[in-house]
Amino acid sequence: MRADNPFRRLPAVNDILDAVTVQDLTSRHDHKLIVAAVRAELDDLRQRIQRGESLDGTGDAEAVARRVASRVERETRPNLRTVVNATGIVLHTNLGRSPLAEEAARAAYEAARGYLNLELDLETGKRSSRQSAVRDWICRLTGAESATAVNNNAAATVIVLRALAMGKEVVISRGQLIEIGGSFRIPDIMAVSGAILREVGTTNITRLADYERALGPNTGALLQVHSSNYRISGFTKSVALADLVALGKQHGLPVIDDIGSGALLDFARFGFEGEPVARSSIAAGADLVLFSGDKLLGGPQAGIIAGRKEWIQKIEKDPLTRAFRLDKMTLAALEATLRLYLNEERALGEVPVLRMLGTPLAELRQRAEQLAERLRTLPGLASVTTAEDVAYVGGGSLPDQSMKSWVVEVEAKAIGDEEFARRLRLGNPAVMARLRGGKVVFDVRTIFEHQQSILIEAVRCALEKSAEQGSFREKER
Ligand SMILES: *Cc1c(COP(=O)(O)O)cnc(C)c1O
Repeated sequence: MRADNPFRRLPAVNDILDAVTVQDLTSRHDHKLIVAAVRAELDDLRQRIQRGESLDGTGDAEAVARRVASRVERETRPNLRTVVNATGIVLHTNLGRSPLAEEAARAAYEAARGYLNLELDLETGKRSSRQSAVRDWICRLTGAESATAVNNNAAATVIVLRALAMGKEVVISRGQLIEIGGSFRIPDIMAVSGAILREVGTTNITRLADYERALGPNTGALLQVHSSNYRISGFTKSVALADLVALGKQHGLPVIDDIGSGALLDFARFGFEGEPVARSSIAAGADLVLFSGDKLLGGPQAGIIAGRKEWIQKIEKDPLTRAFRLDKMTLAALEATLRLYLNEERALGEVPVLRMLGTPLAELRQRAEQLAERLRTLPGLASVTTAEDVAYVGGGSLPDQSMKSWVVEVEAKAIGDEEFARRLRLGNPAVMARLRGGKVVFDVRTIFEHQQSILIEAVRCALEKSAEQGSFREKER
């Protein structure tokens, strides 16, 4: 009778610990974690026996060991994983906005793993400012007198408003009181900075006279904010930066221009109209221009402040500048990205955001067709088709200007689109696609060329079974 007791037939903890598959884990994982995983797997089996289920070989020591191994891998998996961006959205905030150029990524890597002259003048051997890494490059690229860089553009805005207008009124058009997302709202930012919001004009119309009427003894600055993520169209009027600058000069007031995306070259070459370029803003006479490092500039997350030296010096003395300072990896990546822009051709060829925006439609079509052809060899797909489509830049940039692109649309035989997409998200690497009309849609514009094979493998894994995540990446190594 005893021998028939199914609980008795379960392998012992030690048998599983001795299995080769589990032994392989011991070099990388904590012993206690492995033992806990063994116990958890055995508990599962006991519960199944209790429910009267038959174990059908799943209770063999080797089978349990395999499940222990995948449980341990699952429980120690990093939370941040590589994602193949098949959404077509170039600046996808949820996917880390702009990918870095190889050169910038390498600079960050080298900075991360060793020492560098972050705050050291190698000539004199004396302490220096970490801003020397980027200051001159920003000046050369924007025409500004001086510059500094902080954690992001939100931080830059707070710092600038504090330095120039704490306790004073900052005049801004009602049409520019925007929310960027992630609780960045101009009125809230203004409140945090200690400046007093003085809104003028209406949502759609603001005239120079509106600004003029608002000026008084307690005015600290004039602020222009690029309405990055929305557009007012129809009956509208706004004041040109040059006119704002003239008004500021007349009254001895600084003009701050938050251009948002930080284009360093003219985006008309990609068919995008009206995107402000940092250099033009400085040329028009703005005292300070603010922009992000990881939007259209295509670098790491940063907030760049360029403009008059006296203001930059004041800003750098503010304790908030210290609190929002950039780390060595970001500074290294930012410097490398800026240096690419010294030669526009190099920037266009090597900064991924610019490359993706600049890929000709014919080439995208070719890539879509090639991807489709390879996907058609997978047995689990019911249909694979290509089509022309549209996508947006994203990241709160150019909201009303779509781009043509090419996509591959797939349908699985055995699972629906939602389940298919879920498995793709949980794979290794994860794949983010669009869903439309019951199909999973891959936009090739944002898929790096070297990722095509990885994507196909990810699709194959998703079609086979989701649970064995991570298997093919392991094999690759
Ligand atoms: C995106 C944006 C910001 C915020 O920049 P982050 O770098 O994301 O902090 C501020 N102002 C404008 C106009 C923007 O477009």
